[in-house]
Amino acid sequence: MLPIRLSKIKKRTSAEGPGLRYAIWVQGCPIHCKGCFNPHTWDFGGGYLSDVETVYEDIRRTADSTPDLSGVTFLGGEPFEQAEALSALAEKVQTDGLGVVTFSGYEYDRILKSANNVAWRKLLRHTDLLIDGPYIERLHDLSRPWVGSKNQRYRFFTDVYREYETKFEEVPNKLEICLHPDGTVSANGMAGPLDLRMLESLMEFDEKAGENR
Ligand code: SF4
Repeated sequence: MLPIRLSKIKKRTSAEGPGLRYAIWVQGCPIHCKGCFNPHTWDFGGGYLSDVETVYEDIRRTADSTPDLSGVTFLGGEPFEQAEALSALAEKVQTDGLGVVTFSGYEYDRILKSANNVAWRKLLRHTDLLIDGPYIERLHDLSRPWVGSKNQRYRFFTDVYREYETKFEEVPNKLEICLHPDGTVSANGMAGPLDLRMLESLMEFDEKAGENR
């Protein structure tokens, strides 16, 4: 069994790539971008351990009960730091007809130069859309979908999502906020200043509610 260290999974989201997606945030990132939205995913010892088979079975169950599931997204943390496990998972889900979107804080050139890294090459081979480049705070820009700064690039390796290449203006960046049954709040996607203020108010409300429970 191939181990995989995860930060979290969201089984259905429409804020992390084209259409409805099963999103996997891996744990561990050495890049440490200033202003990163997910610094809790940096620690390679954090999160929790799972394995490729367990995650794959959960994706299958989710796809069976979600006919409009378009694919799986890998983000983090840094997916290429766990390329062996993710490439094996990507190969399986592509065989089932799901698309694969991989985010990376490494630039594509850097990934290509690691030609001797078999796992990195395999993850590229089993990615339909790569979104690459670190988050650069001074280039912050939410005008394009799924990304947070101007330097980040979309690489369409297959035709699976190529239709999006010419219609980025029509796809808004989204912030998803979930209120869970246990009263906690979680968020994913990209947030503008207004969304962030709304989120902070919700978190404050959640904390106050917690104090009163
Ligand atoms: S690459 Fe992604 S997870 Fe890593 S520090 Fe940058 S924004 Fe954060």
